[in-house]
Amino acid sequence: MNPPVSESILSISPYKPGKPIEELAREHGVTDAIKLASNENPLGPSPKAMEAVRKALDAVHRYPDGACHELVAKLSAKLAVSPREIVIGNGSDDIIAMLTRAFLQPGDEAVIADPTFLMYEISIKTSGARIIKVPVEESLGVRIDALLGAIGKRCRLVFLCNPNNPTGAVVSTGDFSRLLDGLPEDALLVVDEAYMEFVRDPDCARSLVLRATADHPIVTLRTFSKAYGLAGLRVGYGVMPAWVADVLHRVRQPFNVNTLAQVAATAALDDREFLERSIRCVHEGIDWMQRQIAAMGLRCYPTQSNFFLIDVGKSADEVFEAMLRHGVIVRSMRAYGYPACIRVNAGTPRENERFVEALRKVIASS
Ligand SMILES: *Cc1c(COP(=O)(O)O)cnc(C)c1O
Repeated sequence: MNPPVSESILSISPYKPGKPIEELAREHGVTDAIKLASNENPLGPSPKAMEAVRKALDAVHRYPDGACHELVAKLSAKLAVSPREIVIGNGSDDIIAMLTRAFLQPGDEAVIADPTFLMYEISIKTSGARIIKVPVEESLGVRIDALLGAIGKRCRLVFLCNPNNPTGAVVSTGDFSRLLDGLPEDALLVVDEAYMEFVRDPDCARSLVLRATADHPIVTLRTFSKAYGLAGLRVGYGVMPAWVADVLHRVRQPFNVNTLAQVAATAALDDREFLERSIRCVHEGIDWMQRQIAAMGLRCYPTQSNFFLIDVGKSADEVFEAMLRHGVIVRSMRAYGYPACIRVNAGTPRENERFVEALRKVIASS
């Protein structure tokens, strides 16, 4: 007999990433496919990061610096927090996993919005804890009062994705304060700000600012995978009270962040020009695409991120497949509970045009 696997683990649906361009080429023979499905940076990696990676290649026979000394020092100066309050991860996914490993035991609870980023669910279930999902509003905003109402005695972690993936909605400063005020002392608030660089709403809660005056412990997660263009290297970070960082370092793999990721992220932090260009490209792309799609008579949801949802008024899975035949990879939101919505991220101007042209044909032909 095989060793038993827990019900909790068996209840996990494996994460389904955006379809890789190479796979589309293999399956459909499409040679010029574009991918607007994983919220990646359409401009590529930061040139300064690429240069740093080239220089570091000669040293990859050595183990990486397990403490990520230089990257931590640079982040500490930039964010005005102590190095003891920073943990670097193999992507922010890695830090999510450290948090659930360290703070959740079977019988504990964790609260998340629904829909939200699927990695929280996977990590929570891996720990054997109970997951409590709080549906978002019709307008896709997170319902703070319902979230607070769902927090029981055994709740140890509350995940707040701001802006939320896949909805693009943000939590206001006022709502954030209300959440903090209502949280029990023994529940940690984890705020995932993977897309914060793209936010234009001045009232959006920015946890790295608000943590200074908050009584409640907050963990802020950030990533180099989106605005900094380093998704393939895997590096993200968390800012948290030193005692939380101390706990995470106990469960962290000693060499979790590879050498190339460390040097690339450190260099990317100095590449202001690239970051600003990336953000501008996203804002212009989102605004242009949303105007075109609205003119087609489809509903776009507002967004503060580099992606948005479109209600296509029919099976999103079918639209996804039809778009593939035009060489455009998007994401069906069926797995997130929105069977008539697709999610698309801003690409280059040329990619955005191709997306709009393909969508127009796909919608017209059905
Ligand atoms: C993309 C994304 C991340 C980043 O994950 P990495 O592991 O850093 O690549 C984290 N949270 C959300 C909500 C995301 O969409």
